[in-house]
Amino acid sequence: MSEKNYLKRVFQAYYKEKREEIPIITKLEKREFGFIPWDKEIMNRHICFKFTEDLKQYLINESPKHVYSSGASYLQPDNLDMDKKGYQGCDLIIDIDVDHFYTPCKDVHDTWYCKECGKTGKGIVKKCTKCNSIKTKSLSWICEDCLKIAKNEVFKLINNFLVPDFGIKDKEIKIAFSGHRGYHLKIENKKIRTLLSEERREIADYLTGENISFEILGLRQDRSNILGLLKENIGWSQKIIKKIEEILTTYTNQEIELLLLRYGLNRNIVKSFINSKRDFQQIISNSKQNIWNLEGFGIKTWEKFLFGIVDDIGAEIDGPVTIDIHRLIRYPGSLHGKTGFKTQEINHDELDDFNPLNENNERLDPIVFKSKENIHKLQIIEHDVPETRIKGKKYGPYKKGDIIEVPHHIAVFLLCREVAKLS
Ligand SMILES: [Zn+2]
Ligand SMILES: [Zn+2]
Repeated sequence: MSEKNYLKRVFQAYYKEKREEIPIITKLEKREFGFIPWDKEIMNRHICFKFTEDLKQYLINESPKHVYSSGASYLQPDNLDMDKKGYQGCDLIIDIDVDHFYTPCKDVHDTWYCKECGKTGKGIVKKCTKCNSIKTKSLSWICEDCLKIAKNEVFKLINNFLVPDFGIKDKEIKIAFSGHRGYHLKIENKKIRTLLSEERREIADYLTGENISFEILGLRQDRSNILGLLKENIGWSQKIIKKIEEILTTYTNQEIELLLLRYGLNRNIVKSFINSKRDFQQIISNSKQNIWNLEGFGIKTWEKFLFGIVDDIGAEIDGPVTIDIHRLIRYPGSLHGKTGFKTQEINHDELDDFNPLNENNERLDPIVFKSKENIHKLQIIEHDVPETRIKGKKYGPYKKGDIIEVPHHIAVFLLCREVAKLS
């Protein structure tokens, strides 16, 4: 049996068994559904279901590789013409995926292979480090540290932006682990549902700090003085000042040095900043005081410093997802075809303890195919398969040609990742 047929059967068994546990989203009959089957990487979209039972039966019959539904609701979700669907508004979708931002551990667990000269290496490269060919194939891997960083971004988004700045209520935020390398948030709020794409772009920019203007926040030269930001101005000014206060009061001088060098400031300026630490702390903690005269700091230097701060406190979101009102997102409770893990909804108060790769709470566990007895024999077909840690156990690293024996959930994972075949 081919790997794809095998996985389809495994997915089918899951949908049959969990039929009653598949969550039902709001406005189900008005959402557009999309599916990617196992035999071709093309999405069948413009599908709708009048009744939840129809959706469940479809999942059992077709057992697709990927299952999606729209953030938008429509009068006719199955109309093939986007303009004739009868668009009625769209929930705000925010995607946080480590595929879209750097994490230090990627230098350890992501690998690449050059199709031209055969060289392999770690981390992310644009071209082969040996022959400069751009014909490289990269393999990004799942990892607990990456997922922790992604989770931290979710907290940042909710606690530093959505709740304080947008007045979103906890119950309006639906959080889900994607089933692979990230999380998505769906905000179901009446006012936000009506926003157009352009308006959503402004929200996305606000959340990331993209296109921020420090001039608008108050940074300017006034004769011999530099006027900085004010703590009493809520929104970004306050966030920036809070972060600066945190740096000044909790970082060691060495940590400050490393940070400011990373922001691109030169050594003399960094020294000057560290020497004036106390004075600067007094200035910014006073909510009415904003004269930022530090030795060596002109407007350009302050901008560089502030861009560094903004980059650190802005949320790492995948902007285009938030802007696109017709985007389909993974359906909760469905299986992710690249891992075999479940897309898992989590409440805000459960998120802190949630550990997708080693979850103790059965109800929240995305790894649905776990089994101790069911051992499979596989052959590795990818050059370098990084180590995988799942359920507290370590599997790999593997080399091409290795014959391995692994439990069911690891076999499903490696087959879904297309790095192994049935042996
Ligand atoms: Zn090469
Ligand atoms: Zn990682």
